[in-house]
Amino acid sequence: MKVGFIGLGNMGGPMAANLAREGHEVTGFDLAAPMPEGVRKAASAAETAQGADVVITMLPNGAILRAVAAEVIPAMAPGAALCDCSTVDVESARAVAEQAAAAGLGALDAPVSGGVGGATNGTLTFMVGGSAEAFDKVKPLFDIMGQKAVHCGDAGAGQAAKICNNMILGVTMIATCEAFALADKLGLDRQKMFDVVSTSSGYSWTMNAYCPAPGVGPASPADNDYKPGFAAELMLKDLRLSQQAAEAADADTPMGQLAAALYTQFVETEDGRGMDFSAMLPRFEKRHR
Ligand code: NAD
Repeated sequence: MKVGFIGLGNMGGPMAANLAREGHEVTGFDLAAPMPEGVRKAASAAETAQGADVVITMLPNGAILRAVAAEVIPAMAPGAALCDCSTVDVESARAVAEQAAAAGLGALDAPVSGGVGGATNGTLTFMVGGSAEAFDKVKPLFDIMGQKAVHCGDAGAGQAAKICNNMILGVTMIATCEAFALADKLGLDRQKMFDVVSTSSGYSWTMNAYCPAPGVGPASPADNDYKPGFAAELMLKDLRLSQQAAEAADADTPMGQLAAALYTQFVETEDGRGMDFSAMLPRFEKRHR
C-alpha cells in the first residue's frame, strides 16, 4: 500500500519503519524528528497524503491532530482512509472522523497500548473506532505494527477504550504503590507482599507485570531507577483526558479524578517529571499521613 505517515517521534518512527520494512511505500512528515530507515521524506503533511491509500497520524494531542487533519483531508484521494493512532480526546477524534467522512474518506481512531517497546517490536495493541470498511482496509497495517487490533465501535470508541483502560491503570498503580508504602511501614517484607498479593485478590497488571518495587517481580522500570517506561506526564495526560471525557459525558469518576490530582501534584510540584509512572512508590515512601 501507499502510506502517508505524519508524526515520526518515539512511537511513530518505529511504527513507520516496520511498515516500510514489510514492503509498503511509506512517505513521512514530521516537524522535527528524523525519517526512519526506508521512509521517504515529504515537504509537508499534505504531500504525504497525495495518492496514499492510508494516512496514519501519531501526534502529541487533539489540537495538533485537528490542525494536521484540516491540511491533510483535502489532499487525500476519495476512498482513502485516515487513521489516527495518537491518544487524543474523544471529541477531537469524532470531529476529525466527521470531516473525513464529509470528504468521502474512511476514518479511524486507533490509539495504541504497548509503548515504545511495542512500537519497535511490532507488538502494539490497537483499539479502533470507525467503520468496519475502514477497519478492514487498515487491518493489514495493524497486523504489521501490532499483535492485536480490536474494532471497538464507531468513531471515538477507540479513544474511549484507551482512556478508560488508562484510568484503571493510573488508579491501580496508585493503589499498588500506597499499599507497598503501607506494608513497608508495617514491617512487611516487599517480596512477601508481592508473593501474597500477586496470587491473591489484590493482584493486578501493575503488581504482577510492572511491579513498582525494585527487585521484586519481573523486570520493570523500578529496576532501572524508574526511568520510563511509561512517563508520569503521559499517565497524567491520559488521566486528564479521562476526566475531560467524564465531564462531557456526565459520568461520576471519583477515583479517576483523585488519580489525576495526584499525578498532577507528582509531575508539577514534586519530582515526577521524567520519571516512570511507577515512581509513585518512592513518592509515597517519602510522605507521612
Ligand atoms: P513524540 O513527542 O515522541 O512524537 C510526536 C511527534 O509529532 C514529534 O516527533 C513531533 O515533532 C511531531 N509533530 C508535532 N506536531 C506536528 C505537526 N504539526 N506536523 C508533523 N509532526 C508533528 O510522542 P510519542 O511518544 O511518539 O507519542 C505520540 C502519541 O502516542 C501521543 O498521542 C501519545 O500519547 C501516544 N502514546 C505514546 C506512548 C508512549 O509510550 N510514548 C504509548 C501509547 C500512546
